[in-house]
Amino acid sequence: MIVLGIESTAHTFGVGITDGKVELANEKVIYKTMGGIHPREASQFMSKNAHQVLKSALDKADLSLDDVDGIAFAQGPGLGPCLRVGGTLAVFLAKQYGKPIVGVNHCIAHIEVGKWDLGFKDPLVVYVSGANTQILGLAGGRYRIFGETLDIGLGNAIDVLGRTMGLEFPAGPKLETLARNGKRLVELPYTVKGMDLAFSGLLTASKKLVGKVKNEDLAYSFQETIFAMLVEVSERALAHTKKKEVMLVGGVAQNKRLREMFENMVKPHDAKFGSPKPAYNGDNGFMIALTGWKMFEAGIEHDPKDLAVKQGWRTDDIEISWH
Ligand code: AMP
Ligand code: MG
Repeated sequence: MIVLGIESTAHTFGVGITDGKVELANEKVIYKTMGGIHPREASQFMSKNAHQVLKSALDKADLSLDDVDGIAFAQGPGLGPCLRVGGTLAVFLAKQYGKPIVGVNHCIAHIEVGKWDLGFKDPLVVYVSGANTQILGLAGGRYRIFGETLDIGLGNAIDVLGRTMGLEFPAGPKLETLARNGKRLVELPYTVKGMDLAFSGLLTASKKLVGKVKNEDLAYSFQETIFAMLVEVSERALAHTKKKEVMLVGGVAQNKRLREMFENMVKPHDAKFGSPKPAYNGDNGFMIALTGWKMFEAGIEHDPKDLAVKQGWRTDDIEISWH
């Protein structure tokens, strides 16, 4: 079965195609911005580019829409106007070409593509993107959330501090480079509440130090503190679940220092650590196609009438019946 998947939750409009065995196409455009994402502007950018991305994905796979057996799209969570661009296109294609359709959860698609890329079976998942920070694992047929941020996403915290320092968005890679040359560890608020994390106190304290502490030392101290909070909670989830694989996904997973901290953390637990390749850590259409493919194979199909977008859709709302 050949499935075409559409991603449009935030800044990326992507179209991926798979037959469940290989990636046949994974095309995308990314809305670039200096500040945060403006939902309406991002959605207009998507509408303008959707046709071209769809066409180049089909060209890449050397297929026409008639060859596609099912349509999948990211139904949530994400920004309403952006989600609706992908949702409208998906429903149109399904109706026009008489294909079945499924709505895919974006966070679960990140997990599925990571497992596919790494060959992992049942990992503890640490999902760290701009908007999301969650520690998840499959238990009793659902991805249970063991810990999560109580305020903003980790990537967002990095970007806001970066903006205060005058770094361009996304600040993650630049802050990482600065941090590598940091020498002095400045004490910053460390807020772990049970299994959850709060970043706003740390962020406020760090923003106040911009201009007073060397950027390199501040970047270093901020990274060490915020990553240690994440690793602490992840380690407790690992010890509790006794899983044998830990998978780091999402944009922040690109950070080498964070990966190093996770590699050290898993060793005494006799677990493997991995993170998918950058093309799959970023938002992409292939991960939606792959998850859609698994859902179709498990007999899942949705009625287009029930496919309104779900901006705040939670990962643990979904019964995972396709394993
Ligand atoms: P996503 O929301 O999954 O697209 O991820 C984007 C987020 O990842 C942004 O907040 C970036 O600043 C962050 N990011 C990207 N590369 C890095 C890096 N090397 N270190 C830390 N954060 C990063
Ligand atoms: Mg994402």
